[in-house]
Amino acid sequence: MQEFSRYERQWILKEIGREGQARLARSKVAVMGLGALGSVSANLLARAGVGNLLLIDRDFVELNNLQRQILYEEQDARENLPKAVAAREKLSRVNSEIRIESEVADINSETIEELLKGVHLIVDGTDNFETRFLINDYSLKFRIPWIYGGAVRTEGMSYFIFPHEGPCLRCLFPEPPAVGSQQTCDQVGILAPVTHLIASFQATEAIKYLAGCAEDVERRLWKVDLWSRRFRAVSMEPLKKNPCSGCRQEDYPYLNQTLSTRTVKLCGRNAVQIYRKNPEDLDLRGLAARLLPKGAVTLNPYLLKVSAQPYEITVFSNGRVMVKGTEDENKAKSLYAQYIGT
Ligand SMILES: [Zn+2]
Repeated sequence: MQEFSRYERQWILKEIGREGQARLARSKVAVMGLGALGSVSANLLARAGVGNLLLIDRDFVELNNLQRQILYEEQDARENLPKAVAAREKLSRVNSEIRIESEVADINSETIEELLKGVHLIVDGTDNFETRFLINDYSLKFRIPWIYGGAVRTEGMSYFIFPHEGPCLRCLFPEPPAVGSQQTCDQVGILAPVTHLIASFQATEAIKYLAGCAEDVERRLWKVDLWSRRFRAVSMEPLKKNPCSGCRQEDYPYLNQTLSTRTVKLCGRNAVQIYRKNPEDLDLRGLAARLLPKGAVTLNPYLLKVSAQPYEITVFSNGRVMVKGTEDENKAKSLYAQYIGT
């Protein structure tokens, strides 16, 4: 049972009230991706008293995250802590009365259904459209709303998607943008306050929805350029005339796709991800000892990282491998073979 008084400044708001606060306590929210957007959303939702938070991220903390990703500190980067773990530890200290689960995992068509079981709302903190289209399919199929958010340079946008009630992401963008056509924060930069603003939009709409005020949720898409203070709300109503195949006939290609390859280029991140065939064979300690002569090795309970300049190879305990420093899948595979073996 949560201590109600800690949320007093929130539930005395007539929009929320004690009933709204109690609803928040019964809710389960998944925050997918714990970069700038996800860490701000997770922070606000934990402090607001959302009773169950599921934090999902595939990456670990690096020094260049700290400019905007408010849940992390220098020590987390030094220890190469997975973001999901660092975020859970931090938020558990902020609010010990809520339940916080974390998953150091990649979200794909094989993992999403198991990961998101029992979730009432999904908050988007991802940085790529492949994952967002997958979340969108999941949302339509299981009728779980989600809140799209994106930010790059000084701009951002946010849109609350009610499955089968209003236009979804695929109604808005029939196809994911072509690979390489999108600017990414890695390439063109990101102003931290814009990510905080967009995540605050997302968290506000999440609180409205979870507190039982779905009728107050903003149905328009919000676009912001914070540098030039341009704010724009775009009605999605016209898109209702031409729904996507997911909204029209329950066609979910992103959810149904099989992973044809075990190697995935992480676009705009200058990294390739490889799934190990037999993750159960993995012995991180043994591997660390073997790799020590080949480069600087760091090991924690969640991952092993080896620096092989100009590359960096990270092996997660569930067998997922991330090669940073290249987008060439063949180069990544050969580094994998050279350092990790088959
Ligand atoms: Zn649609």
